[in-house]
Amino acid sequence: MVLEAPAPWRDPGHDSATGAAGEWPAADLGYPSGVSQTYFQKGFGLKQAVGPVLSANYASGLVDRLKELDYVARAGDLELRLAREFGFCYGVDRAVEYAYETRQQFPDRRVFLSGEIIHNPDVNMRVQAMDIRILPEEKDPIARYADIHAGDVVILPAFGVTVAEMNHLRATGCVLVDTTCGSVLNVWKNVHKYAREGFTAVIHGKHYHEETKATASQALTHEGGQYLCVRDKDEAELVCAFIRGQVDAATIRDRFAHAASPGFDPERDLGKLGLANQTTMLMSESLEIQEMLRAAMRDRHGEAGLQERFRAFDTICSATQDRQDAVLRMLEGSPLDIMVVIGGFNSSNTQALARICAARLPTFHIDGPDCIEADAIRHRRLGEHEDVRSGEWLPAGPVRLGLTAGASTPNNVVGEVVRRILALRGLTPDQLQGA
Ligand code: SF4
Repeated sequence: MVLEAPAPWRDPGHDSATGAAGEWPAADLGYPSGVSQTYFQKGFGLKQAVGPVLSANYASGLVDRLKELDYVARAGDLELRLAREFGFCYGVDRAVEYAYETRQQFPDRRVFLSGEIIHNPDVNMRVQAMDIRILPEEKDPIARYADIHAGDVVILPAFGVTVAEMNHLRATGCVLVDTTCGSVLNVWKNVHKYAREGFTAVIHGKHYHEETKATASQALTHEGGQYLCVRDKDEAELVCAFIRGQVDAATIRDRFAHAASPGFDPERDLGKLGLANQTTMLMSESLEIQEMLRAAMRDRHGEAGLQERFRAFDTICSATQDRQDAVLRMLEGSPLDIMVVIGGFNSSNTQALARICAARLPTFHIDGPDCIEADAIRHRRLGEHEDVRSGEWLPAGPVRLGLTAGASTPNNVVGEVVRRILALRGLTPDQLQGA
């Protein structure tokens, strides 16, 4: 077995053609150094060995057929349009592949995932079927690792883990397979820079999401580093109001009690801001929030002060952006009657796609083929936490149905959804023709 020491620092960007992520040495991420014997960041060179299994599990001939038909197909009076960018992103592809490689590399070890590898039930089910245990979420994140001992293998997901979790895992002596996506590492790089230079990282993201928690923890690895997680425009507006002197510090402390660094002092910590985000948020909203905060800082400090006190980088990952752009292009093209968005209900990037669509036409966010029932569709409305069943969702007669899928949705799931939708009309995949 070849064990590699972390490479010298290089830009942790990714190669979007190959999906390969860059890496940082552990110490630069606030992780302990000296991790070369038990820390893997680049897979095990077993791509060929696991490739056939991955294809068997996640490929779909039906999706390949839709692509051959240039993403638009007809069967009977049903027209199907598939967004040109959908499904597995390079980061998820890589993380899932590493999980399979890890099982192959350590056939006799106990292998764990620090949480769901991605937010997709089908993928998580298949990973568990390989005897990889997904550690349950705990209020205290460290508590989930109580059963991890030296020699065990723990896979860290594409969205990363917090510095505290990493430090704890290192101390156990377990083997770590770190699949943190290069695009997430890129956000961390900016957060580090902000913290080093005395800027508070304002993170557009959900403070309870694994990725945002991991990103926020990076800010605390520098003395005086601070963060504030802003979920949406309403929360950003409140921060803007404080900057403009329209609300007091107590209001900010209350509202962001669970979404800010310990001891966050709005008077002190909202003086210099650096913008970052959870990579899977709605890009248009991230940009709006950035502009709202920029305007508030300009109002408070003037143009000259703004240069000194405000930083922003584009930290939406290109895969998220490509999927959002593709669905927008599809909606702006030929009219559609219904949209089906496929992805885990807790998948942020799938929710962002559903939001884009729901603002324009009837949209059903489903998490897999089982949601397509004979007489109804089971789906999740925006911002709700329970599924609903809607009957008569697919009207009789000609229907133009759009499809897209979040970055954690494999093609086999998309293909099976299409097969079931066709079956509702008494159609089969071999009846699909180009439009
Ligand atoms: S959505 Fe983006 S950041 Fe997240 S795993 Fe995929 S490529 Fe990486």
